[in-house]
Amino acid sequence: MLLERYYCLHPELALNVALFDKYKKTIKSYKWTEVEWNGYEEAFRKLMMEREKAQELMRSLAKEYANSDTKHVTLLCFCPDERYCHRRLNKEMI
Ligand SMILES: [Zn+2]
Repeated sequence: MLLERYYCLHPELALNVALFDKYKKTIKSYKWTEVEWNGYEEAFRKLMMEREKAQELMRSLAKEYANSDTKHVTLLCFCPDERYCHRRLNKEMI
């Protein structure tokens, strides 16, 4: 079976500048306190809920891929730990 792969960049699922600045400061130490991470996660989820294009994309991905045996989505990011990365949050929201 030939696998067909393609890559798409979806900036609507990415951090905004404020969250990215906060992330950069924290990632230098590679340690989040629970309070820091919870605040970050809440802010990111709120951002995604406010972005109409993010909502549309997540609904579309869920519809097309959620129940498919042949189609899969892989979310990529440079973060070393998925637990503290927006891709995990995106995955949970999809
Ligand atoms: Zn990440």
